Amino acid sequence: MLSKNIAVVGTGYVGLVTGVALSEIGHTVTCVDVDEEKVALLKDGVSPIYEPELSELMKKNYEAGRLSFTTSHRIAFAGADAIYIAVGTPQNEDGTADLRFIESVVRNIADYITKYVVIVTKSTVPVGTNHHIKRYLEGETEVPFDVVSNPEFLREGSAIQDTFDGDRIVIGADTEMAATLLEEMNEPFGIPIFKTDVRSAEMIKYASNAFLATKISFVNEIATLCEKLEANVEDVAHGMGLDKRIGEKFLQAGIGYGGSCFPKDTNALVQIAGNVEHEFTLLKAVIEVNYKQQRLLVEKAKQHFGSLRGKRIALLGTAFKPNTDDMREAASTVIAEELVLAGAQVVAYDPIAMAQAKVEFPEAVNFAESAEAALDGADAAFLVTEWEEFKVIKANHYVKLLKKPVLFDGRNCYNLEEMKRAGLDYYSVGRPAVR
Ligand code: NAD
Repeated sequence: MLSKNIAVVGTGYVGLVTGVALSEIGHTVTCVDVDEEKVALLKDGVSPIYEPELSELMKKNYEAGRLSFTTSHRIAFAGADAIYIAVGTPQNEDGTADLRFIESVVRNIADYITKYVVIVTKSTVPVGTNHHIKRYLEGETEVPFDVVSNPEFLREGSAIQDTFDGDRIVIGADTEMAATLLEEMNEPFGIPIFKTDVRSAEMIKYASNAFLATKISFVNEIATLCEKLEANVEDVAHGMGLDKRIGEKFLQAGIGYGGSCFPKDTNALVQIAGNVEHEFTLLKAVIEVNYKQQRLLVEKAKQHFGSLRGKRIALLGTAFKPNTDDMREAASTVIAEELVLAGAQVVAYDPIAMAQAKVEFPEAVNFAESAEAALDGADAAFLVTEWEEFKVIKANHYVKLLKKPVLFDGRNCYNLEEMKRAGLDYYSVGRPAVR
């Protein structure tokens, strides 16, 4: 196989997983990050993020000498055949993508490359960004290079599995040489490769995330209708998903999408469309539905109790989804803020993301050491993240621990019959309330 020297810039969820995966298939990888603490941890063999299987693979390749970490772009770029850019592209206040980190990396590239290199953009960037990068570098360096768009589709919580067993690898390149090189480098993954032009590759990423967000908001609107019309969204989604044109995935009703990608990428695509004078009406509605959905449980609790003032609420789950410690744009933050605003006393617990929650949540929120401790003596429970350890809690456990047991389940984790039998007041999403 073709073994290359690769620099990966950024050791976050995407960069670290990419670096580890590329070393696992035989490349020699140097990961560079500006965060000195992160790099120190990595050098000690500790992953700064929680991601199943990542630590083991990282350790294995580090010990085999195929993977190293540095804070120096100069060291990382020396002799690199490819430079992967995997820094964050968060959103500005107006919803546009903040490209500061990308710009800084590109300045470093101009300063330090000494021979032909392929610059591979993994970060999600607005359509046209890679062509801007190319034009900028042409003005700054005589060294030959190509810029390739190689958007990332991994999901946090299953990032390693997604990388080795993904549905496709998209390569957007302007030259056959760069496209072929990337194709050869990625061949060992054994995943279908789709080659296209740079701008289409950039658009594939935004369009994919916008489509998935649309599916979620769509089923959530159907859930709202189901509640009003006494239907059950679980059965409705199942019946819809049996149609292969629709598919069963991403049809789980709940309290909306969160995380580091869907919210910012849907907002960015609305802005990208606006820049070319297109009003993306559909996507705007998707975002609006999600805004309402994240507040749904609090609305249900207000209706149930009349007022939430002084009520003690156990908030189960703070991560934006199970198997990650990431809390960016998590529904839990919105819920914690709304509950505190309504005068409730919030006691939160998460198996992995509690350190982050202590930073993100309002100060008034307290934290418990276990689900049981959070539930003990509370007036109500909010199930916000569907961690396995919450899904196995039995209905009678809630009955035993809560004062006058009522559960608001934002992820439809439990069986309605079981809740009924246990004598719990139970509210979920798009299914009949049990009272
Ligand atoms: P992240 O915030 O977890 O990590 C970014 C890292 O880049 C940080 O460690 C930061 O210190 C580092 N960094 C910033 N500037 C740097 C510089 N000049 N040089 C070296 N390192 C620098 O971000 P992430 O979640 O990994 O996302 C990265 C990109 O991938 C984003 O564009 C995101 O939209 C996209 N993406 C993310 C996911 C995901 O699930 N997280 C999935 C697909 C695509």
